[in-house]
Amino acid sequence: MTIEQVIAQTQGHLSKADTELIERAYAFAAKAHRGQKRITGEPYIEHPLQTAFILAQMGLDAKTIAAGLLHDVPEDSKYTLSDIKKNFGEDIAFLVDSVTKLNLIEYHGRTRYRESLKKMFLAMAKDVRVIFIKFADRLHNLRTLEYLPEDKRQKIANETMDIYVPIAGLLGIWHLKWQMEDLCFKYLHPTEYQELVQKYEVEKKLELNQYIEQMATTLSQVLTQLNIEHKITGRFKHLYSIWEKMHDKNRKFDEIYDVFALRVIVPDVDNCYRTLGAIHSLWRPNINRFKDYIALPKPNEYQSLHTTVFGPGGKATEFQIRTPEMHEQAQYGIAAHWSYKEYGSKRPTPKVGWIQEILNAQKNSPDTQTFIQQLRLDIFSDRLFVLSPKGDVYELPVGATPIDFAYAVHTDVGNKAKGVLINNKISRLDEPLHNNDLVEIIIDKQQTGPDPAWLKFVKTTKAKNAIRQYLKPSALNRFAALANPKHWWPRHHNPNQPPEKNKNLE
Ligand code: MN
Repeated sequence: MTIEQVIAQTQGHLSKADTELIERAYAFAAKAHRGQKRITGEPYIEHPLQTAFILAQMGLDAKTIAAGLLHDVPEDSKYTLSDIKKNFGEDIAFLVDSVTKLNLIEYHGRTRYRESLKKMFLAMAKDVRVIFIKFADRLHNLRTLEYLPEDKRQKIANETMDIYVPIAGLLGIWHLKWQMEDLCFKYLHPTEYQELVQKYEVEKKLELNQYIEQMATTLSQVLTQLNIEHKITGRFKHLYSIWEKMHDKNRKFDEIYDVFALRVIVPDVDNCYRTLGAIHSLWRPNINRFKDYIALPKPNEYQSLHTTVFGPGGKATEFQIRTPEMHEQAQYGIAAHWSYKEYGSKRPTPKVGWIQEILNAQKNSPDTQTFIQQLRLDIFSDRLFVLSPKGDVYELPVGATPIDFAYAVHTDVGNKAKGVLINNKISRLDEPLHNNDLVEIIIDKQQTGPDPAWLKFVKTTKAKNAIRQYLKPSALNRFAALANPKHWWPRHHNPNQPPEKNKNLE
């Protein structure tokens, strides 16, 4: 990576002064890191350059890109923050300092991740550009994760999934969220990742490409006849989201059909609706899947028309229709508000309502507990957080029960769960949990396994699988046998079914 490539990425949108600032920041960083090497063996400056490149790709302003180049200077060189202030002014020094301080967040697993989240949000409140730099920094580190020892990889990947990914989603920076998820997936579930790469990237995409091309060509011809300027691209869903789907719904890869969407970019809103009309006259729409996010934008300002039609062979095909501005917003979320393309050096505050709400909530609630409570209402509306007696935080889907919690703690805790105290009160095992509940599972050490009736109310895949696993025929026999010793028969009565080891009770 060179500084010329970083500047080229901004596609001439920067003023002469902006370009000079970036070049000056590069020269300073290069001097500061001279002689240092990354673990990859490359000169250290490659990392700040890559970070700056990602920021330029996001369309961020010159100060953010300059701060990206300088972000590791105070921590990793002989130059200090005051040197940066002297050379580049208050603003850039503030950004660099904030990123350095965020580096000090030590991740100790879920227990203390509220604290890390809070720090992220505090930084964001002061200037959200700090978060963009931190994200770019993290993204590049993830890309070079393979050079780190295994334990560090796991730690960084877990931390990214717990802290960075939800925030990127909250801010609508999908482009970063997807990349981070896929990179972490690779290290957190290497076997499944490789399998999916083969099945999806190699086999399925090849087959689908033809189909996508066929539909795109048909549509393009019609739009040309209608004099609608357009750009059509096929977008494949990212690996992690497909894997999540397979996991959540317990489906096989072949049963997941909505793995791609066609994106049509047209000059203005008017043409979005005309394009929609053209698509619907070509293929029959599935009316249940139609969404007008132009008239009704999502809370994070996402806008587009979504429609799913029955394409050739009856294959469900999703179209997303949007203007270039909407596209920018969709890729980069609130980062688009800091774009040099639209605003030059004048930077408006984002009008995103919910960010303002979060920031207000933060001002009014000095303690972490209350802050996070208010915060998660907004971000994590489909998830809930409960506490173990030791103070560990567990994240569960809404509607989860004490049994889901028990299996989240440990399979053995689930299998031997007998009762539960919710906030110190005896409760039922199927009682839905609420945010911030303190959950204590009462264990019966004599209990041999889960109650099949639990399957009716558990919400998490983990609990379901663990219970089913235990109740597999061979185990079921033993279960019945233990419950009624008279019915015990020797396990080897069927030579075709060798005795099965129960993985859950190791
Ligand atoms: Mn860094």
